[in-house]
Amino acid sequence: MTQKKKKVFSGLRPTGGMHLGNYLGAIRQFLELQEEYDAIYGIVDYHALTSLHNGEELKRLTHDFVLDYLALGLDPDKCTLIKQSDIPAHTELAWLLSTVTPVSWAERTPSYKEKMELQPDDVNLGLLNYPILMAADILIYKAEFVPVGKDQLAHLELTREITRSFNRRYGEIFPEPQSLVMEHTAMILGTDGQKKMSKTAGNTIEIFLEPPQLEKKVTGMVTDPQRRYRNDPGRPEVCNVFNLHKIFTPDEVPRIEKECRAAEIGCVDCKKLLAERINSFAEPFRETRKELEQKPGIALEVLSQGASRARVVASHTMAEVRDRMGLNIADGKR
Ligand code: SF4
Repeated sequence: MTQKKKKVFSGLRPTGGMHLGNYLGAIRQFLELQEEYDAIYGIVDYHALTSLHNGEELKRLTHDFVLDYLALGLDPDKCTLIKQSDIPAHTELAWLLSTVTPVSWAERTPSYKEKMELQPDDVNLGLLNYPILMAADILIYKAEFVPVGKDQLAHLELTREITRSFNRRYGEIFPEPQSLVMEHTAMILGTDGQKKMSKTAGNTIEIFLEPPQLEKKVTGMVTDPQRRYRNDPGRPEVCNVFNLHKIFTPDEVPRIEKECRAAEIGCVDCKKLLAERINSFAEPFRETRKELEQKPGIALEVLSQGASRARVVASHTMAEVRDRMGLNIADGKR
């Protein structure tokens, strides 16, 4: 008898082009997990609306994200690819979960504090509700596992707390999702060398950029701030270019480290080498994506297939939840 596959859910916000942080921090794991798990991967456009308020741009970015997912190797025959807003039950469940979530839990989440800092002129209520919608994204499919980076463990912990809070009141409907922290998951800093690479922070290196643009991004990266002149010895341990070399040019790392400390290599050459390697790494993905661009309708087809599958699971969950919460009065007493 074949064993039922365990479910995983994860998603990315379509607020900009797919970047190295997305790939190294999430997509690599998605690729592994789609082989063994019943994996549902979302393009979480409802979440994107907390920082993107341009409908035409969101449409374009969402469409591009499907092609990005496919070009990077997500396979609709092995996993379910969805656009969050195609399954409105996500937001219905988020509302229901909000009624068992103390406001203080939402306020203390790191993402809320981070976003308040990053977009001080747009601290909308959606940002506060974000972790509750995230819990709904996971629980609507009764996902048992969520691939996360170490920096995201606090968010998942809140989902687990919400799950317990719901189950205590209404009975054990939802499994408490476990984190899947994969060994090689990397928290990638952005081009500023300070903050996590993210679209909101504006410090990304997009995978699908053409080589000259990609090189421009890499050569613009902040390095060791104390190394002001070519003859100053550098400190690779504080340099994000060096961090990326560890991933993309592992064979060169001992040499770069030695030459950086001895001021034998300049930052310009060091970054050029990195840009070359990232370009070679990205080349096959770029080619596949160009081929996908020649297939009109493919993004909609993939999303429609994913939504059909996902809606079946979501509607089962919602029927159960509505019943337990007293929203279905068909069998109620008069
Ligand atoms: Fe960073 Fe390379 Fe410059 Fe050293 S030489 S500070 S590792 S960019």
